[in-house]
Amino acid sequence: MKPFTYERASSPAEAAAAVANHPGAKFIAGGTNLLDLMKLQIEAPTHLVDVNRLALDKIEATPDGGLRIGALVRNTDLAADPRVRRDHAVLARALLAGASGQLRNKATTAGNLLQRTRCPYFYDTDQACNKRQPGSGCTAMGGVTRQHAVIGTSQQCIASHPSDMAVALRVLDAVVETVRADGARRVIPIAEFHRLPGETPHIETVLARDELVTAVSLPKPVGGTHVYRKVRDRASYAFALVSVAAIVQRDGSGRVALGGVAPKPWRVEAAEAAMPRGAQAVMAQLLAGARPTENNTFKVLLAERTLAAALTQARAMA
Ligand code: SF4
Repeated sequence: MKPFTYERASSPAEAAAAVANHPGAKFIAGGTNLLDLMKLQIEAPTHLVDVNRLALDKIEATPDGGLRIGALVRNTDLAADPRVRRDHAVLARALLAGASGQLRNKATTAGNLLQRTRCPYFYDTDQACNKRQPGSGCTAMGGVTRQHAVIGTSQQCIASHPSDMAVALRVLDAVVETVRADGARRVIPIAEFHRLPGETPHIETVLARDELVTAVSLPKPVGGTHVYRKVRDRASYAFALVSVAAIVQRDGSGRVALGGVAPKPWRVEAAEAAMPRGAQAVMAQLLAGARPTENNTFKVLLAERTLAAALTQARAMA
């Protein structure tokens, strides 16, 4: 690990200003991804701004009937919140499908959104990786790509996004609240928060360097039956090959987003009109234009079958 300096911020504005004033600075909260990346020298911040003492660890009801989740709410606490379990159950289920109990105790809401890909070539510093070192190439192209994305990729990067929580937030139409060093605040729809790789796979979100996530808000509950199904190579503590977040209403209409198949949580709202006609009809639009590799062609059919299973599960639960 390379040497770095450290400070503890006492307000969101102070934290944002500290990062703005140090060119090599980064925020740290749970550290469940950043510390691993620092040990491998994939990330080498010269200064860490600890945001753990900021008062951003509450889950509050909003006047419109939704919930405002502080950026520092731990994944365990969010999954256990009675309002989340009752009204936004897809989020609780997605959280509990992710990582391990120990990691969920440390990992925060904002950190979960900002975690980086688990592409093995990204973590192997002997391999070329455009995300780790822009312009160096992509070893995954022609490599082992069972875990990689099948849609939303580019010639520069085919990595998938690892979060389960973000897939549920996408289907719930969450918004991300931020603040910058100059005090400017933004509200970013989750659909626009993560970027596709295009020519710049190292830029993964729309956040500015000094922009601190302060909260994630959920609109009022949408009702329906909430299902999160995750298919992975072992039963626990593994990232998704494919995951499905679905909210199904009594008349068969609903919403669906996919994890494990794209560089960001994958949802195509127009495809949801086909929900009453079943998984095959939805997937024909949701994964239209997919470009799987030789190693991960199976994900297209796996996604359809996982959605079919989710719809069957929703009918049984209703
Ligand atoms: Fe790097 Fe992306 Fe290629 Fe993986 S898929 S090696 S993260 S550029």
